[in-house]
Amino acid sequence: MNNQTIDQNYIWHPYSAMNSDLPTYEVVSANGVRLKLNDGRELIDGMSSWWCMIHGYNHPKMNEALEQQIKKVSHVMFGGLTHNPAIKLTKKLIEITPTPLQNIFYSDSGSVAVEVAMKMAIQYWVAKGQKGKQHFISLRSGYHGDTFAAMSVSDPDTGMHSLFKDILPQQIHIKKPMSRFGHSCNDEDLVELEQVLKNNIDKVAAFIIEPIVQGAGGMWFYSADYLIKAKALCEKYNVLTIFDEIATGFGRTGSLFACEHANISPDIMCIGKALTGGYLTLAATLTTDEVANTIDKGNPGVFMHGPTFMANPLACAAAVASIDLLLESNWKSNIQYIEKNMTEKLNICSTFANVEEVRVLGAIGVIEMKQAVDMSKITQQFVDAGVWVRPFGKLIYLMPPYIINNNDLKKLINAVVKIIKNL
Ligand code: PMP
Repeated sequence: MNNQTIDQNYIWHPYSAMNSDLPTYEVVSANGVRLKLNDGRELIDGMSSWWCMIHGYNHPKMNEALEQQIKKVSHVMFGGLTHNPAIKLTKKLIEITPTPLQNIFYSDSGSVAVEVAMKMAIQYWVAKGQKGKQHFISLRSGYHGDTFAAMSVSDPDTGMHSLFKDILPQQIHIKKPMSRFGHSCNDEDLVELEQVLKNNIDKVAAFIIEPIVQGAGGMWFYSADYLIKAKALCEKYNVLTIFDEIATGFGRTGSLFACEHANISPDIMCIGKALTGGYLTLAATLTTDEVANTIDKGNPGVFMHGPTFMANPLACAAAVASIDLLLESNWKSNIQYIEKNMTEKLNICSTFANVEEVRVLGAIGVIEMKQAVDMSKITQQFVDAGVWVRPFGKLIYLMPPYIINNNDLKKLINAVVKIIKNL
């Protein structure tokens, strides 16, 4: 059996069917912004492997950090033991995330970081004697992951709610804000939030939200002013805020964390994806002293979670190297450069009859089509044009590695514009 037969008949890919005849492309190596396929073709990566590979592939400094760490210790249980990469990473994360977030729980994927955040919020209220506060408010078009609690706070229509409705925890889904990024918040956007807060004050543990950018649920950029006012409302009604920065963290929106656009900090924050520069899977849930100390004082006096691969040393070493690389680089001007080019050159698409809207924020460019695209057909066209772009539904979007150079960015954008024009 050749690789393709094995791949198609025995392996599931994300949201795919077994025995699918949809193509997958075998990557044999990757370097900088280029993926090399087994037939020798090279593709410019427009996806950063789903927000992760901010420094590009096969980066010498990232490789070196991992080689050094692998010679020391690749993995060790975190129960009763600790290690330097976790301690170094913790110091850095405390330094670069909003000041009130001083307590960190490491886990192995974004979805688990969200589960952990939700457990923290529930345990916090239990410790305060408010056992009824077990539910969450979340935004429609939001996406927080594929595990059960994470699914329950993701969009109820585009998520997997109908399939799992009898087992998913019941949450409160409210309309997403329509006020756009760069604009002040229309009062209308806050009406439903205030109403559900008022009506469910004894039931709601936290409001979970992707700050500024709703990612996989719709690639929607909204007003920083909404975030400020929504947080103030949560404080007024005694509800915690959880910011899911898994997609937006580490510079993607033009600030290190998206909540910095609003100059506010949540009670709990989730990070993942670009945390390790995409090299290894690692996520973290950060919280305030108030939340952590309250959990400690409650019953049973500990936070109830502890995964096998918690704070894996290789992943922590990759994260330390990635944060160093990012902070030493001109990441802000790189992102401004990508933003400027995408704004100037993608905008032509908004004149095409099949395009609903073009929007750009930081190193994220989105072309919303009027109709869903044929994903396998358009992916093939992108591959033939030498770029890797993976649309979903009506959304064709670009989020290249921050290190992409002028020429490659031009090639990427031109290929996308040309293909959309001829669809
Ligand atoms: N939250 C957000 C905002 C995400 O974009 C994602 C992944 N797309 C997740 C959570 C889940 O992360 P993971 O796929 O690592 O479980």
